[in-house]
Amino acid sequence: MTLRQITARSLAEQGARASRIVPAALAAAGLVALVGWSFASSRAWLLLAVALAGPVLAVALYRRSVRGAIEATRLALTDQLTGLGNYRRFLERLEREVDTAASSGRPLALCLLDIDHFKRVNDRFGHPAGDRALTEVAACLRHGGEAFRLGGDEFALLIEGRDEPAALGIAESVLRRIASASYSHGDPVTASAGVVVFPGHGVERSALVRAADSALYRAKGDGRNRACAHRPELTWDPVRLTNEAGSAGTLAQAAAALAGAIRARGIEDGQGAATGDLAARVARRMGLPPEHVDMIGFAATLSDVGKLALPDELLKKPGPLTDAERRALERHPLIGSEILDSLGADAVATWVRHHHERWDGAGYPGRLAGDRIPIGARILFVADAFEAMTSDQAWRSGLAREEALDELERCAGTQFDPDVVAALVVEVRTPARPVLPVAVGA
Ligand code: GH3
Ligand code: MG
Repeated sequence: MTLRQITARSLAEQGARASRIVPAALAAAGLVALVGWSFASSRAWLLLAVALAGPVLAVALYRRSVRGAIEATRLALTDQLTGLGNYRRFLERLEREVDTAASSGRPLALCLLDIDHFKRVNDRFGHPAGDRALTEVAACLRHGGEAFRLGGDEFALLIEGRDEPAALGIAESVLRRIASASYSHGDPVTASAGVVVFPGHGVERSALVRAADSALYRAKGDGRNRACAHRPELTWDPVRLTNEAGSAGTLAQAAAALAGAIRARGIEDGQGAATGDLAARVARRMGLPPEHVDMIGFAATLSDVGKLALPDELLKKPGPLTDAERRALERHPLIGSEILDSLGADAVATWVRHHHERWDGAGYPGRLAGDRIPIGARILFVADAFEAMTSDQAWRSGLAREEALDELERCAGTQFDPDVVAALVVEVRTPARPVLPVAVGA
């Protein structure tokens, strides 16, 4: 049962109890009134006062019981030591804020914080001093956003309406406040923070928390007393991929199955394996590590996997889209990356998430610009565009190769990363042997 359901049930029970109290109180008042009538029938005002006593009492009882239920709910959602919202409250608020951000299109940032070397405070000054320090750190958080204590020495901030640079700035100012505050035990305290942004770094609540946790882990690893934003490409871990997906072969099979499903629906923008090979060649020319070169091939064949979740009426609508339809369509990179995340390939999921971001920041879903767009996503975007331009569509025949390259160059620096365009132009004009070991989804 969710917290909201528990709360609703508790209030409903209080309401039911009050609804039993009210008729009973009214009956009692009627009885008293009748007795009063027989003894003092001429004194109408007395009768009225007595008659009203029951309902007034019932209303007071009802209000007290509802207040009690609200107070019990508040206590269940509050961390007793610091007075901040607790973990349950955090999950509830995060869910609601993610829903709001998704419908309004405004960004939402999540910052996880953990005190540095907090065990030493307990060891040197004792547990009560540690408790006081937790309260003092909590006080520093209140100005950064809506603050929570998740447990132990870990806290969270929900920062509404801020993109990644702004949220990172807020996290850093909170960390400065923590580092410069004075503490009852006499020694300074520092903390580290991990920052993620919805929808750029995750759509699901659990994916956001996981991403923030990995950014926090990086902040600890980089020396503590600092804030780090989530950098998905650094979480690429072939060992994890092998463990979780069974083997790279399993991933390839899963990728091929998904790519086949996309082709079967006829909803892809690019040309599947051809785009994959071109993207991989561009990645290799740009000096990406070999494992990323292979992964970009997978990503290119899967970049439209999120469209599987969208209806044909939307994907194949002949006329222009309404704003609501366009917003729904623009969710496909987010849905796709959630699907791919479950395969254990963080890098692929991240590139797919951002493969419609424009170099000038006018793309979607994260409105990331320039170097903030993961390099794999920038390559996918250009390779997809090239393949889409050169292929025949129902309503027009494809551009010639040189015309498409001219168009890419025209849009380099606004729509596309100029370095990626330059690398692709060289690759297209100098055909090389394919780099993908297996033509996935071919
Ligand atoms: P790191 O910089 O890696 O975070 O080091 P750390 O020592 O802070 O390690 P970690 O965050 O893993 O440990 C948290 C410690 O917080 C463990 C426990 O001793 C302490 N702690 C957890 N809850 C409480 C509490 O309610 N009161 C006090 N005083 N200490 C707590
Ligand atoms: Mg700690």
